[in-house]
Amino acid sequence: MELYQLTIHELLDRLRAGETTSAAITASVFGRIDAVEEEVRAYITLMRETALAGAEAADRRIRKGEIGALTGIPIALKDIFCTQGGRTTCGSRILESFIPPYDATVVERLRAAGAVFTGKTNMDEFAMGSSTETSFFGVTRNPWDLERIPGGSSGGSAAAVAADECIAALGSDTGGSIRQPAALCGVVGLKPTYGRVSRFGLIAFASSLDQIGPFTKDVEDCAILMNVIAGYDPRESTSVPEEVPDYRRFLGKGIEGWRVGIPKEYFVAGIDPEVEAAVRRAIRVVEGAGAECIEISLPHTEYCLAVYYIVAPAEACSNLARYDGVKYGFRSEAGRDLLEMYKKTRAAGFGAEVKRRIMIGTYALSSGYYDAYYKKASQVRGLIKRDFDEAFTKCDVILTPTTPTPAFRVGERTDDPMQMYLSDIFTISTNLAGIPGISVPCGFTAAGLPVGVQFLAGHFQEGRLLQFASAYEKHAQIEKRRPKL
Ligand code: GLN
Repeated sequence: MELYQLTIHELLDRLRAGETTSAAITASVFGRIDAVEEEVRAYITLMRETALAGAEAADRRIRKGEIGALTGIPIALKDIFCTQGGRTTCGSRILESFIPPYDATVVERLRAAGAVFTGKTNMDEFAMGSSTETSFFGVTRNPWDLERIPGGSSGGSAAAVAADECIAALGSDTGGSIRQPAALCGVVGLKPTYGRVSRFGLIAFASSLDQIGPFTKDVEDCAILMNVIAGYDPRESTSVPEEVPDYRRFLGKGIEGWRVGIPKEYFVAGIDPEVEAAVRRAIRVVEGAGAECIEISLPHTEYCLAVYYIVAPAEACSNLARYDGVKYGFRSEAGRDLLEMYKKTRAAGFGAEVKRRIMIGTYALSSGYYDAYYKKASQVRGLIKRDFDEAFTKCDVILTPTTPTPAFRVGERTDDPMQMYLSDIFTISTNLAGIPGISVPCGFTAAGLPVGVQFLAGHFQEGRLLQFASAYEKHAQIEKRRPKL
């Protein structure tokens, strides 16, 4: 085994035992990046020099016996998190040269825990997409099949973890952008409860839906990262002052007698037969572990996509109004007056998908249409949330496929936004309801593409979710394969 192939907890054990150094781990990860990054293209910006210097500093602390939750561990950051003094593009031309004057809270917390940052990973422009193809900086490839997409919008983070170009990564999830790429790349991805992780310094897409979460190689690493990033932040008004348990304490416990809801609306026509078979196997695994699976109904499921594609663009068009060429990043020099400068900056700075969202959002919020679209969507969102509240009176967790299909080919859905939007059909409801969800690998297709199973729990039940996911992981014994790169 190479160092870059290990998990956070395995590396921490070796660091504690004095068997390796952060310098060696970091050099191993960058050696891997040098070997495969040209094919995968997971990163927008690499931070090699600061990472190696950070590793030396971590080793000095370890020698003094100061070892924190992530001391010396190489972690990648989606390029949506502000990093002080380090370019933060959000996958967009309009922020191509934006250098934030401060760190996002999650970056601060990882830094304080001793993490070493490998770089900023590729993503769909402003996190709008499901394939990482809308990035201004080119397409990231799925490490399991370079002809295919890694999922999105956090495709760079998922691909970097799957290809061992970092030990773990952070992403953001507005409608599935952590869980969907995690499933398609064969790694673990968690979207926490709305309010669990501070979004201070996260570039906003849709503020009532955005959450930050980890990409890891296993469930234990996911708990380790959650211990670091979760918690109240006085600088973020939606972060909740709810106590953070030690998530590791939930691992390795059983799930006997747990009731698992299988929503009938999530097993319908259109789901790939190999994906369905893998998820049905996962149902048998949790039954084998002593849980009881029951059919439940989430009757408003069919409205989720429509509601999301009103709410998310409406909030996005408002959040993106600030990119006018004055304060941030790119400015077109072609305008003769202020108004023309605004127009030319936005015309040249945003890509097609972002413009489509701005137009949809502006329309949905415009006077005369607000009641028919935005207000109606918000009302239906309340019904979707109520479906989950009711379901969780009958079951402890819900089990669904994470995605309807395995990774699709590069270019296959770029001309058909509806097909692209359907990639998130099973993940969007979680964001609308604000509940936590995790995707865990549950097998491979005959062609060798990874498949993910999604588990959902009630608000602030991340501990129980991780307990369930770790029990599943232990009983499923999914074969440990590595992509051939
Ligand atoms: N694919 C969805 C979208 O395009 C979700 C993206 C996300 O979660 N950031 O909006």
